Amino acid sequence: MGLPPLLIPPKKNQPLARKCSFGMGGTVELFLTLSNTAELKTILAWLKAEGRPWFLLGRGTNLIIPDRALKGVILQLGGTFKEITPKKAHRLSVGAGAGDLALARKARSLAFSGVEFLGTIPGSIGGAVYMNAGAHGHELAEVLEWAEILTPEGELLQLKPQELQMGYRSSLLQSTRCICLRAQVRLSLSNPSKIAAQEKKWQQQRRISQPTQARTFGSLFKNPPEDHAGRIIEALGFKGKQFGHCRISPIHANFLENLGGATFKEVWRATKRIQAAAQQQMGVTLIPEAETLSLQPSLSPCNLSLFCAK
Ligand SMILES: Cc1cc2nc3c(=O)[nH]c(=O)nc-3n(C[C@H](O)[C@H](O)[C@H](O)COP(=O)(O)OP(=O)(O)OC[C@H]3O[C@@H](n4cnc5c(N)ncnc54)[C@H](O)[C@@H]3O)c2cc1C
Repeated sequence: MGLPPLLIPPKKNQPLARKCSFGMGGTVELFLTLSNTAELKTILAWLKAEGRPWFLLGRGTNLIIPDRALKGVILQLGGTFKEITPKKAHRLSVGAGAGDLALARKARSLAFSGVEFLGTIPGSIGGAVYMNAGAHGHELAEVLEWAEILTPEGELLQLKPQELQMGYRSSLLQSTRCICLRAQVRLSLSNPSKIAAQEKKWQQQRRISQPTQARTFGSLFKNPPEDHAGRIIEALGFKGKQFGHCRISPIHANFLENLGGATFKEVWRATKRIQAAAQQQMGVTLIPEAETLSLQPSLSPCNLSLFCAK
């Protein structure tokens, strides 16, 4: 079966380094940008019928991407998935392809408070739901009213944070092949200059404490309970250490910087060395926060009702 027509033309053998914040990766056979839910559903049905492996890319800010030529299809949400629409009582409906920064900006323009913390996170809303993204003592689950989810069977569900099992940098989306289409956040009316001042303060804090000028994928590891991955990595003596073309940031040890031309093998080696040292010397298991991009075929039906009430 031929590829169904799409509003945005498909791209073949697309280089991936420009599609991710770390600036690494080979190419993908086919890269598709989907403009609306109908296109997404059509393409998912086509992928299933063709048995082609695929991966849904957000903004690529939390991904380790292999260097080789990947066989299969990468999907990204564009078009109507980037829309942000005000709703009654200080709510915003936001497409999963919209940026966290765009949502923070829109909320500020309407004097809505509650997503200022997203003003420092460079991912997409879909990625933020998937990760329950958070910063500065806040996380998305606090303001998320519901997320609209497309299951592998093509069913649309509106799930609340509890039903999405949102925890520390985790959600149900990580163990299913469900796709977040949009989210609704409930905010409160505030003062625009107060909102702007809060965002500015957090952005300044980042500039001082994190390598904001470097290419990274955010935190390399999740924080273990009651501790900080950065503190552990620094105590193990890795801060500033170079692994080929990448190095553990001299500014914040839980960030890996791409110095230019970092390879998958180098990133892998750095990650494994730190994990082994943390385990052997401190008895701490460090779990990577960044995910390795892997194209997988469509799943057989997953029964979401097992996990949550509809
Ligand atoms: C400089 C920098 C700072 C960062 N700071 C923070 C921080 O403070 N807090 C924090 O939590 N994170 C932070 N991150 C990490 C990252 O921005 C977040 O995890 C973000 O939520 C990932 O979103 P993304 O769109 O880039 O997802 P991607 O990296 O593209 O993908 C990550 C995963 O999300 C899945 N995904 C993406 N969209 C959808 C969707 N619509 N439906 C289902 N699954 C989807 C992908 O399939 C993939 O499995 C930072 C990253 C960088 C580069």
